[in-house]
Amino acid sequence: MTESRPVIDAQDIEFSYGSREVLKGLTLTVQPGEIFGMLGANGSGKTTLIRILVGMLKPDAGSIRVLGDPPSSRQARQVGYMPQLSALYEELSIRENLDFFGRMYSMSDKSERIAAVDDAIRLVGLWERRDDSILDLSGGMRQRVSLAISLVHSPALLLLDEPTVGLDPDLRATFWERFREMADSGTTMLLSSHTMDDAVHCDRLAFLRDGQMIAVGTPQELREATGDATASLEDAFIYFLRRAEG
Ligand code: ADP
Repeated sequence: MTESRPVIDAQDIEFSYGSREVLKGLTLTVQPGEIFGMLGANGSGKTTLIRILVGMLKPDAGSIRVLGDPPSSRQARQVGYMPQLSALYEELSIRENLDFFGRMYSMSDKSERIAAVDDAIRLVGLWERRDDSILDLSGGMRQRVSLAISLVHSPALLLLDEPTVGLDPDLRATFWERFREMADSGTTMLLSSHTMDDAVHCDRLAFLRDGQMIAVGTPQELREATGDATASLEDAFIYFLRRAEG
């Protein structure tokens, strides 16, 4: 069987902010329909890599393909991005926010756009609050609006930067139900996190440390690599950290 073309193919990516080297030869591939998690401490380079994949930053070295092409604005229609700090219009309602972003994604057919906006609001469980302004929403609800915005245009690829940070366990579980439903219907997802509460739900994981990938595999493969298949993912992460530190 031939493997299908990866949705993300990043090879030997290097990136510096001025003299600060942040990505040091990072290689990562994500297959269609996969939920791929990047796990690493704050500062390990996760956000930087996501910004490169979105096309907001250009790598200094390496090659990168997203949906078969170098990242560019032409793909905006096929890529959804949920940044760490949400950019919501506080005075506008949930519906108005989604409609605005729908238009930004060139969803020009009004009735199709309205249907997609309503679907996205239902998907994140905010239908009852659809006409409330963002100002009246809790932090967790705002995060759900951000998620709805990232997927309103039914992208083939979702890039989610710490989508569950600050969520209570119930809401985290709800997000994961949604992610799994989307993956089952063919959406590919790359997300970043610094908690193993997310890691356990991913199909494959990359452990990052200081701009480099120190391990990649399914959660089970990473556990088994420690020599103890019953090890936790926390244990596996520590095992690979120690190994990387020599
Ligand atoms: P993560 O998402 O894993 O927390 P980031 O990609 O945000 O990591 O950051 C990686 C490193 O790059 C950190 O040390 C951070 O301080 C630095 N950094 C991030 N953004 C900038 C910037 N705009 N200018 C300079 N340094 C930055």
